[in-house]
Amino acid sequence: ATPTALLVGTGRGAQMGVLIKGPEVLESTRQADTIVLDKTGTVTTGTMTLTGTVPTPGTDAAELLRVAGALEAASEHPIARAVAQAATEAGPLPAVEEFTNLEGRGVRGTVEGRQVVVGREALIAEEAGPLPTGLATAKATAEAEGATVVCVGWDGSARGLLVVADALKSSSARAVSELRALGLRPVLLTGDNEGAARTIAAEVGIDEVIAEVLPQDKVDVVRRLQDEGRTVAMVGDGVNDAPALATADLGLAMGTGTDAAIEAADLTLVRGDLMGAVDAIRLSRRTLSTIK
Ligand code: ADP
Ligand code: MG
Repeated sequence: ATPTALLVGTGRGAQMGVLIKGPEVLESTRQADTIVLDKTGTVTTGTMTLTGTVPTPGTDAAELLRVAGALEAASEHPIARAVAQAATEAGPLPAVEEFTNLEGRGVRGTVEGRQVVVGREALIAEEAGPLPTGLATAKATAEAEGATVVCVGWDGSARGLLVVADALKSSSARAVSELRALGLRPVLLTGDNEGAARTIAAEVGIDEVIAEVLPQDKVDVVRRLQDEGRTVAMVGDGVNDAPALATADLGLAMGTGTDAAIEAADLTLVRGDLMGAVDAIRLSRRTLSTIK
């Protein structure tokens, strides 16, 4: 029979904004010794804003934003929202045909007859062309300052950069320090660039960073930690986090995140902040120590 304490613990969790899929989840919550944190939307708000545009010498800045914004208006990605928002504020956007979302890499589509790509540098290099030296330097500088930079290209050439920035959730640093105090080792995992990842990690007190990980590879990072003998909790919000959340010994989804993440997880943090993970771990330890 299920011990009453487990049910009481599950009920207590719900009151605290921690939705637990089943009483057995409390056991894996108690055992976790490593906590992998997705960056965008988990440690940070995921609400990005456009902070700069860097066109190539032959490109008009307003045109860069208008064309990229039109394409990004068709994407749900936090970067896309920031770009589309800024572009919409600047003026009406043209229609997009043949839109394709390239998960974890960017987007592609046709805008006013141009073949446009927006996303990672590697994507633009493959589908449009290499970044000219000036742009590569501007990108490195912005990334070292912690920004996220996406590249824009069309019709066989790179056309410019869009710089976006995200803000920390107010409770992230405190949550990381409490997770550490509970004996968990925090690891930041992101598809974003190393510079942005390291900047955010330093701000919340994480020293282990795994950056530039493609969505399908996040699950391998979890498996690798498990192979090292770790009991891994993973916190995420995105569609791209769902396989890793399902593979982790304990998956925690942000309640503010996607349905895919919530379905894949064992536990949902309703308030959408990392203090919920601290509450869940404390609760599991209290609940299970009363059973033993
Ligand atoms: P995270 O792991 O931080 O949630 P993602 O895996 O969703 O990030 O995306 C990884 C990278 O892919 C982004 O940092 C960006 O460079 C690129 N990317 C993905 N989708 C888009 C998009 N719609 N527009 C521009 N860039 C994108
Ligand atoms: Mg995310």
